Amino acid sequence: MSELLKVTHLYKEFGTNVVLKDLNLSVNKGEVVVIIGPSGCGKSTFLRCLNGLEEIQSGVITVDGLPVEAGKRDITKLRQKIGMVFQSYELFPHKTVLENCILAPIKVQKREKDDAVKEALELLDKVGLADKKDYYPRQLSGGQKQRVAIVRALLMHPEILLFDEVTAALDPEMVHEVLETMLALAKAGSTMIIVTHEMSFAEAVADRIIFLDKGEIVEETDNVFGFFEQPKTERAKKFLKTFSYEK
Ligand code: ADP
Ligand code: MG
Repeated sequence: MSELLKVTHLYKEFGTNVVLKDLNLSVNKGEVVVIIGPSGCGKSTFLRCLNGLEEIQSGVITVDGLPVEAGKRDITKLRQKIGMVFQSYELFPHKTVLENCILAPIKVQKREKDDAVKEALELLDKVGLADKKDYYPRQLSGGQKQRVAIVRALLMHPEILLFDEVTAALDPEMVHEVLETMLALAKAGSTMIIVTHEMSFAEAVADRIIFLDKGEIVEETDNVFGFFEQPKTERAKKFLKTFSYEK
């Protein structure tokens, strides 16, 4: 198995607030890692560090053997190896769906327009949005916008995809279509790191679960089913309980 992402002894602080404490992680090509944990435990910050959006205080992050160092000259190149989809879609309001998708491939990666358009249309078709290619973001539902954001990330041909609570802002009936898209990507062999509060989705999609609490990896396991049935640590038990209701 080839290792795509490696994090060793990562520390991240905001002033005196130590947000990530000695995190270590190794992700192989094709693996789907799901990170869960209470609000404020550092999940978003961790993803942002992986993508070079945050400076780190110590530790090493490498993608495909190349170090991720925020602010460095070659960060643009590295970011192209990592696609990220956020809770808010951040589509350009004055550009159509298709234009939003092909912007970065043409501008940043200098791809031929015809080639980018062709691939964008194929991907939009795959996520059920071929007929929306000339729509503007305001004409789409939240779930549709989020699927456009996923297509936009895929067009950059990233080695790894990061998802930060991408369904958290969606109405319940739209959550499903976005999660289905992510499940399909996982089945197709994409390497993904997913932060989510959708526990049954996490169980379905994950090859590995990481439970993060107060900036530390408290539990990490390949036994995904076992984790949700019976986590090993009290902290994970307590956290999972907040998702279940007594009948
Ligand atoms: P999560 O995504 O798990 O909810 P975050 O990564 O957003 O958690 O936040 C982790 C901690 O880092 C929180 O204590 C938060 O207040 C702090 N934090 C996040 N971003 C910043 C920032 N830009 N400046 C200062 N503190 C931050
Ligand atoms: Mg977050």
